[in-house]
Amino acid sequence: MSAAGPSQGANCSLPEGRREAPRVQPVSAAGSVGVVASGRPSFEVAVIGGGLVGAAIAFGLRSLGPKLAVLDEGDVAFRAARGNFGLIWVQGKGMGLPAYTTWTQRSAHEWPRLSAELLREAAIDVALAQPGGIHVCVTQDELARRTRALATLQAQPGFKRYDVDVLDRAALARRLRGVGPEIAGGTYCALDGHCNPLKLLRALHAAILRAGGSYRAGHGVARITPHRNGFTLETALGTLEAEKIVLAAGLGNAALAPMVGLEAPVRPNKGQVIALERVPRFLALPVDTIRQTDEGTVLIGDSQQDCGLDDALGLDIVGAMSARAIRVFPMLASARIVRAWAALRVMSADGFPIYEQSAAHPGAFVATCHSGVTLAAAHAYAFAPAVAAGALPESFKPYAARRFHVPTIA
Ligand SMILES: Cc1cc2nc3c(=O)[nH]c(=O)nc-3n(C[C@H](O)[C@H](O)[C@H](O)COP(=O)(O)OP(=O)(O)OC[C@H]3O[C@@H](n4cnc5c(N)ncnc54)[C@H](O)[C@@H]3O)c2cc1C
Repeated sequence: MSAAGPSQGANCSLPEGRREAPRVQPVSAAGSVGVVASGRPSFEVAVIGGGLVGAAIAFGLRSLGPKLAVLDEGDVAFRAARGNFGLIWVQGKGMGLPAYTTWTQRSAHEWPRLSAELLREAAIDVALAQPGGIHVCVTQDELARRTRALATLQAQPGFKRYDVDVLDRAALARRLRGVGPEIAGGTYCALDGHCNPLKLLRALHAAILRAGGSYRAGHGVARITPHRNGFTLETALGTLEAEKIVLAAGLGNAALAPMVGLEAPVRPNKGQVIALERVPRFLALPVDTIRQTDEGTVLIGDSQQDCGLDDALGLDIVGAMSARAIRVFPMLASARIVRAWAALRVMSADGFPIYEQSAAHPGAFVATCHSGVTLAAAHAYAFAPAVAAGALPESFKPYAARRFHVPTIA
């Protein structure tokens, strides 16, 4: 594998000028919005953050038409939504919180509906494919550990079971053409899949606009003031009013949540992705670290680093990821790297989402997670209707941020 382009930066340092003032971007032709006596635009719901979480929730609220606004920062933002790997993934998730497995499976099941609605309303095919997915284990030891971990996961009380096949080398080779001779095996789950996440983000935005909602880039929210009838939002491009707000600002939620009596202790976790040139189709289904896109390129992903707000690419990591990918599929050794990038995941301390409604200001909701592609359908079809109804049901209780305050037993 050879790199075609010097796109790396220093490791773990905040790139200079990263957070300069937002550029002014066009406001959508949103039709008429309400205007309060102060002359400020006013909305029934303002979703703060136009990444995958905010856009999926706003999509679920699109019947509000002009009474819906998405307020976003613009091109200076840290946006996991534009740098992710595109998996819709179920297997292996939910250790320590079985409810999360149910939530993830629900979203995977509702993804075909989301994809169909986006095609109909935005005329964008998000390249959904759910042929199942594979986790590859390079060594026998990895395979044994993976098998034990999945058994422990499934044995949790309240776990919504699904089938995972443990594949020895021969079984894996039947499913993955060209898998390397030293690979020990893997696990297969029929619920897994992938999509084109950039088309997903574009389609969600397009469908929101088409329904009459407005997307306001350059509107980074600096301050939220709750009042009797809702919330005043001070943004870089003016002040707005909203009856309800959804904090879906990714890493920005940490600063916004306390303004409305919530908390969102999230931190960045850097992931790097490598894109190889187009090669003849060889992967019929995604592996959780290697997938072939609808356009034929091959993506390699899933590194994890705690580096603060540093989203610079590190060639050492790119090298390690490439080496492992070549062990899995030796024929990739001759494919050229055309692009590589890093992006920041939005992680809570236990890796699970935070969904909560403010007790002090009940019109304010927070939503944040680190699997925003997988959960897009659940956000559109379960979280958004709860916001519209004005209350999160009991099933969201496990995701409240108060779980981070439970003292650990010595
Ligand atoms: C390398 C990598 C690989 C990944 N792979 C997968 C995968 O395969 N499958 C999967 O399901 N998930 C994956 N994810 C995670 C997924 O991308 C994220 O869960 C999802 O993008 C999070 O969406 P978000 O909207 O919360 O945050 P973001 O996408 O980061 O968006 C946050 C938005 O909020 C805006 N914002 C911030 N502060 C403010 C403010 N004060 N006012 C207004 N707007 C604000 C920003 O401008 C930004 O647009 C991956 C992530 C990374 C980094």
